[in-house]
Amino acid sequence: MKNEELQARKSKVIARGQGNVYPVFVDHAKNAEIWDVEGKRYIDFGAGIAVSNTGHSHPKIIDAVKAQVDKFSHTCVMVNPYGVAVELAEKLTAIAPGPSEKKAIFVSTGAEAVENCVKIARAHTGRRGVIAFNGGFHGRTNLTMALTGKISPYKHLFGPFPGDIFHAPFPMECHDVSVKDALKALDNLFKVDIAPSDVAAIIIEPVQGEGGFYAAPTEFLVALRKICDEQGIVLIADEIQTGFGRTGKMFNIEYSGVEPDLITMAKGIAGGFPIAAVVGKSEIMDAPLPGGLGGTYGGSPVACAAALAVLEIIEEENLVQRSNEIGALFNNKLSQLQAKHPDLILDVRNKGSMIAMELVQGSDAEQPNTALTQAIIANAAKYGLVLLACGFYGNVIRFLPALTISNELVEEGLSSFVRLFEDL
Ligand code: PLP
Repeated sequence: MKNEELQARKSKVIARGQGNVYPVFVDHAKNAEIWDVEGKRYIDFGAGIAVSNTGHSHPKIIDAVKAQVDKFSHTCVMVNPYGVAVELAEKLTAIAPGPSEKKAIFVSTGAEAVENCVKIARAHTGRRGVIAFNGGFHGRTNLTMALTGKISPYKHLFGPFPGDIFHAPFPMECHDVSVKDALKALDNLFKVDIAPSDVAAIIIEPVQGEGGFYAAPTEFLVALRKICDEQGIVLIADEIQTGFGRTGKMFNIEYSGVEPDLITMAKGIAGGFPIAAVVGKSEIMDAPLPGGLGGTYGGSPVACAAALAVLEIIEEENLVQRSNEIGALFNNKLSQLQAKHPDLILDVRNKGSMIAMELVQGSDAEQPNTALTQAIIANAAKYGLVLLACGFYGNVIRFLPALTISNELVEEGLSSFVRLFEDL
């Protein structure tokens, strides 16, 4: 079977709304490498969009999933529950930042986790408003699209969106939005758009993912915590892309010392098995009535078994620490490239293995180089690489390697990337 043939068949039967970045169809994958149906091998710097943190087909996950499927694969946790869900909730509530009294719920996707956070926050406070941030991304369902800051392609043609959602600026020093400016704008929003006493929740990605890998400064997160405490607002940390060691801590918000009331988890939680969770203060989590949260597949026993294996792997293989080592290797090499091409590369930044390179024209921070970014992505497969872009203007190359990748593979992949960049 050829890639081209499969792409032609796919285009006929899968709608373009679920279009693919690469016309490369996977045959098999192992750790940080993918082989396509024609036998070509790629170094995977995308990890299925920050999902395969423990690498593709980790033997421990395979064993855990096989053992669970041999016993049973579904009963619905809301009908006949099972021990693997309880064990996973015990582990997640223990590792999540926040007070000691925490509870969890399970759903299947990141967007559902975000939706359920909003439901829980509204049930707890009896208020309607939710504040999110410009450039943020929270999913593709109707409510999470409304929370998302970027229009195209996520919101384009899809309105109307639910009301009572407000957006405030996200501080970005490299684009001249200071913490002071962002807090002033939030204060203004409280005066003009919605009184704080009507706000149920503030939701923030501690590092914006799809938005371009911008980290929220600690000072800003601390200020948000103070506002939420003073005004009785629920603070939600969306750690769907940043969680499970990706940024060099188990959860990124740990860098700031801020304890969110609710935290969303998905992606890296189970190595590709569809499960997501909300973990938060018991008192808030218990606001909705029994049956008001979750869904038929939420907390699938197979996905729970995979997630328990992932947690063991992260600990046994020291992946949180490894995330920082890998990030440093990338930063080093990409910074050398930046020194050679300061007119094109505005910034190289990383939090652990959430690594970004922002491309501009003529060293101008306000001239995003979307065309060059697109050309890099379009040519990556020829150089044996899987790369992803992000950013409000699509001008950021993001690197999200498996945290199990070897130094040799990082070096090989980055050498190919430098060749690709310099050949264009
Ligand atoms: N929130 C963040 C921060 C994300 O990065 C994503 C996905 O990229 C989502 C929410 C939505 O998750 P899902 O695609 O699993 O619905």
